[in-house]
Amino acid sequence: MSMTQRFDLICIGTGTAASTVASRCRAAGWTVAIIDKRPFGGTCALRGCDPKKVLVGVADVVDWARRMKGRGVDETGFRIEWAELMRFKRTFTDPVPQSKEDSFRKEDIATFHGPARFTGPNSVEVGGRLLEARYIVIATGAKPASLGIAGEDLITISDQFLELDTLPPRIIFIGGGYISMEFAHAPQLRARRSPSFIVDCVRSKGLIPISWRWLWRACAKRESIFKSIFVRRPLNVPAMRCG
Ligand SMILES: Cc1cc2nc3c(=O)[nH]c(=O)nc-3n(C[C@H](O)[C@H](O)[C@H](O)COP(=O)(O)OP(=O)(O)OC[C@H]3O[C@@H](n4cnc5c(N)ncnc54)[C@H](O)[C@@H]3O)c2cc1C
Repeated sequence: MSMTQRFDLICIGTGTAASTVASRCRAAGWTVAIIDKRPFGGTCALRGCDPKKVLVGVADVVDWARRMKGRGVDETGFRIEWAELMRFKRTFTDPVPQSKEDSFRKEDIATFHGPARFTGPNSVEVGGRLLEARYIVIATGAKPASLGIAGEDLITISDQFLELDTLPPRIIFIGGGYISMEFAHAPQLRARRSPSFIVDCVRSKGLIPISWRWLWRACAKRESIFKSIFVRRPLNVPAMRCG
């Protein structure tokens, strides 16, 4: 174990939460270290909001074009090219870890890679180095809730969905929150016959209440963008199996 390095603040995580705290404390003159066990950048920039917005944005454009069919727009060719879209998405996400690291270094924030482990109330170990600080911020984000069902290991989580090079012909989204709703749009616009099913689980908090009625009506009437999104609620998913 190397010599202990001392800081005013250690942030565990490099997502939005940790980055904001680290930068503000550094700007106030504190010595700051930041740690991540995954590539720097956190969920929003790498596996969440930003890549999702690329998919949703493209789905929106295609939907607009289709709705303008016969109103001055020839819709021929307006469909999502998934593989190309994924390549485009990576032009945004791939540079994030390095640019994040560069910006921390520019701010004189010490960067460490690897899982952080507490060794005491004011000390953590990362990659064989011991760090100590007056304050330690845990900003390690969230992970998907366990469903506790047989075959759970077969489920594709959102991280993996955002890396799919090809789309399966039909998709079931478990959980009726905003991410399911947004994710369901892009695949269904890829081709006319690629339905997405959203299962609004009994155990989930459910579709965002304010939009629920409107979404339900739109899905039931198969309106525009909702043409092949089927919503089932409320249901419990008892098990998953292959095939
Ligand atoms: C698909 C998807 C779409 C989303 N869309 C939106 C949206 O449109 N709008 C919105 O507001 N929010 C959205 N969110 C939510 C948003 O991404 C999160 O709320 C936000 O990123 C959380 O930021 P955070 O800094 O708390 O944690 P994170 O960004 O998750 O960062 C936590 C970091 O801690 C690291 N870490 C964990 N444990 C350790 C350890 N022991 N040692 C070292 N490092 C560790 C992780 O590797 C990770 O990089 C979305 C989320 C997902 C998954």
